[in-house]
Formats: sequence, C-alpha cells, structure tokens
Amino acid sequence: MTAEILDGKMTSQKLLEKLQQEVSTLTKKPVLAIMLVGENPASLIYVNAKLKKAESIGFKAILKQLTSNVTEKEIIANIKEWNNDPNINGILVQLPLPKHINKNIILNSIDPIKDVDGLTAYNSGLFYTGQEPYAIPCTTRGIIMLLKEYNIEIEGKHVVVIGRSNLVGKPTAQAFLFENATVTTCHSKTENLESIIKTADIVVSAVGEKIVNGKILKKNSVVIDVGIFRTPEGKISGDVEFESASQVASYISPVPGGVGPMTVTALMYNLLDLYLAQNIR
Ligand code: NAP
Repeated sequence: MTAEILDGKMTSQKLLEKLQQEVSTLTKKPVLAIMLVGENPASLIYVNAKLKKAESIGFKAILKQLTSNVTEKEIIANIKEWNNDPNINGILVQLPLPKHINKNIILNSIDPIKDVDGLTAYNSGLFYTGQEPYAIPCTTRGIIMLLKEYNIEIEGKHVVVIGRSNLVGKPTAQAFLFENATVTTCHSKTENLESIIKTADIVVSAVGEKIVNGKILKKNSVVIDVGIFRTPEGKISGDVEFESASQVASYISPVPGGVGPMTVTALMYNLLDLYLAQNIR
C-alpha cells in the first residue's frame, strides 16, 4: 500500500486563490508588518517568502530590519509604534531572536488584535481556555486546514503530537483537542515513545530529528511531518522516513511541500481575520 500525499503546495494554492478573491472585495489593503532582528540567513529566507506571498494575495507587507545588537527597549518601541498605527493590521516578529532578547517580553508587547502569529500570552490564554483568540499559531492552523481539505476525520481519533514547543507542539495538541480528538503529547523525556506512536490514528511530528518510520506506525494512520532540518550532508529533511512510512500510512505529508506552505497560507488567513476584527471594533 502507498499512502496518499497530503499536498500542502497544491492545497495552499487553492486556499490562497479563495483568499485572494475575498481580499479583492475589501475597500482597503490589509497590512502585514514584519520585524527581523539580526542576520540569520534562514530567517531572511522565511521572511522574504512571507512578504512575497502577502503581496501576491493583495496585502501590503512591510519589513523592518534591526541589527542583532539592538536592545529590547528599541524593539518594543518599534512594536508600540506599529500597535498605535491604524494602518497596520498584523505584526509578526520573526523567531528566533538573538540570545540577549527575552522573546516572551517582545511577543507580549504586540497588541493581541494585531498578533498575526497568535503567540501573545493573551491569545494563548484564550486559546488554551477554549475561548476565541484573535489568531492561533500558523503551523497549527495550517495542519488543521490541510486535514480538513482532505476530509480526514479528526473527532474521536487518537492523535499523537511529538514535540511540546509553544510554537508548534502545544498549540497543535490544543487544536486537536478542540476538534474532539483524544490527544497524547510526547517530548524528549517520554518513555516508550515508539509504542505510543504505534497507537496513533494521526501522528504529528514536530521535533527536528528523524524520529518516525514505517515500523513504528499503526497501519492506515495519517502522518503529518512538521520537522524541517538539514542533514549532515546538507539535504533538507523532515522527521519522517518517507519511504517506509508511506508503505504503512493512509495519508502522509511530504517535506518539502507539506506543512511548510500551509503555515504561510494560515498566516495569510490570520491576517485577514485580524483585519476584519479591527474593522468591526
Ligand atoms: P523546538 O522548540 O526545538 O521543539 C522540539 C520539540 O521536540 C521539543 O518539545 C522536544 O522535547 C521534542 N524532542 C526533541 N527530541 C526528541 C526526541 N528524541 N523524542 C521526542 N521528542 C523530542 O522546535 P519547534 O519550533 O517546535 O519545531 C520543531 C520542528 O518543526 C523543527 O524541525 C522546525 O524547523 C520545524 N518547523 C516547521 C514549520 C513549518 O512550517 N513546516 C514551522 C515551525 C517549525 P523537549 O520539550 O522535552 O525538549
């Protein structure tokens, strides 16, 4: 048996065309403001992809680049300016930040109604207490959108999320709980990880290491590979051994072309949601 590919690239194109149509009916262009601190080459690639995608949808996107020796105070002053600027609808601070900067302080200085990554304590608090946040983290939203586009049933299923970061693992587990799945969250201290994965109807791997293969998957499970890392040979890889996993799973998301494009798509949907929230307030 060979699994059906969960094609994030194709699904994104379809969802973005729909979004573009909606955006074309707006009287004003929603504006995304991105802050990039330091010279991380991978971050620069991600930021450029987000800027380009936003413009192609009909949004306006602006970038503020700050040098890595900038102070927290300077970053916050800039964010406050954006918070108070009625022309800016979404604020994104590209992670990771330099070590001397407290990420939480920076993220929490974003006005929650402009928090396009859904990472402020305010929006997280609403999300984890079952209330409606202005936005949820983009990778999480992208994963749920991908499964729904393929009509994959979530309710009542056992979902195993590997990884518990605030960026991916935790919000993804919460989103599946919201969809009435039974959720197990695993991490680096989990005992018997392989036997837990074996019981999963849906596996979401967000680790950054080759950790999942066909031998440890349940037959016909759905596999979502969030991981992206470079192998020692310099190749881009996901967490899942694709060849063996696709012989056992019913659906599998590839890397690249799976969760990556869905994350950017969810960011675009988050921006529209924020714009709409701000324009009925
Ligand atoms: P992170 O903050 O480093 O978190 C990694 C998680 O994996 C941690 O919770 C860690 O457990 C767990 N872990 C590490 N080794 C493990 C092991 N051997 N067994 C089980 N769990 C283990 O990373 P992240 O930001 O969540 O990102 C995870 C991966 O997704 C990375 O490869 C990243 O590049 C990728 N990513 C992709 C997208 C996309 O759009 N496709 C978006 C974001 C991230 P502890 O908590 O115990 O340390």
